[in-house]
Amino acid sequence: MTVILDGAALARTIRQEVGEKVERMVADGLRPPGLAALLVGEDPASQIYVGSKARSAGAAGFLHRTVRLEAGASQSELERTIDDLNRDDAIDGILVQLPLPAPLSARPILDRLDPAKDVDGLHALNAGRLWLDQRGLFPATPSGIVELLERSGIDIEGRRAVIVGRSHLVGKPLAALLLQRQATVTICHSRTRGLQEVTREADILVAAVGRLAMIGPEFVRNGATVVDVGIHRLTDASEVERLFPGNEARRATFERKGSVVAGDVDYQRVAPLCGAITPVPGGVGPLTVAMLLANTLTASRRRQNAEIA
Ligand code: NDP
Repeated sequence: MTVILDGAALARTIRQEVGEKVERMVADGLRPPGLAALLVGEDPASQIYVGSKARSAGAAGFLHRTVRLEAGASQSELERTIDDLNRDDAIDGILVQLPLPAPLSARPILDRLDPAKDVDGLHALNAGRLWLDQRGLFPATPSGIVELLERSGIDIEGRRAVIVGRSHLVGKPLAALLLQRQATVTICHSRTRGLQEVTREADILVAAVGRLAMIGPEFVRNGATVVDVGIHRLTDASEVERLFPGNEARRATFERKGSVVAGDVDYQRVAPLCGAITPVPGGVGPLTVAMLLANTLTASRRRQNAEIA
């Protein structure tokens, strides 16, 4: 029987744990964690992401603020906004919603963040600290994956982990986190030769490719744990039928919402082979926001010198 790794349930648990810790902080006379999101332009997906992070932050008892700049904002306006947020003592975490509209350049902005407030873990200093096994703030999606594996009792130590994708946001930091937990880690990418032979070696296979249903059964060893990071919205009924043949639940969702969400893994064909698998939706996605809150709580405690458990 394949175990379905329920990221949505774990995300609820983590958000509740964070909320309880915030209550204790405030009862101890500390201020609640403060999270600021910087949103540049009108990109609809970015607006949805920022809105959902703000709602979750509010529900956990955080102070939260969305700073909006017009799409035509200059690099120096962005830099000034970051400087203001860096100086603001009530703000413990700063999110820069990516991608920034062209021609703005993200890297100088990310490296201008106070590393102690970089709750997305994208500042060069935090990326370096991760690889040096030092204390820092690390990206939420890979942290959520590790949390899900550990709390689901999936062994990591000594296991072969293969990650398909080498982004700064997911693949690379996840490799560092799994290596810290004593996995033997391989990172694959678009130039990897013999990809299937490599992925079939995996005890833990992570797909962070950004290609709909690319990971089919031929990539997976029997009994492996498969983690699907990809998020794709399907709006074509024939595509839904191709990927989820005879799946009444998906069909009903499509009829209700006009779309369904699927991942980088060909779930319906791969799931029966796996020891455990994350679904899409309801796997890795919800953990990202939950771990962002956990990171902001950590940043706030460190900034207030309150390193209570
Ligand atoms: P990127 O586009 O930054 O990286 C994709 C990686 O996949 C690259 O390293 C690329 O290789 C590799 N790749 C692309 N095609 C192939 C191929 N045919 N064979 C092998 N490797 C390939 O993506 P992200 O890491 O940002 O995101 C990946 C997916 O995860 C997306 O679907 C995204 O929407 C989703 N996502 C989900 C999150 C969540 O909360 N669940 C959070 C972040 C992302 P190369 O480097 O050689 O180009």
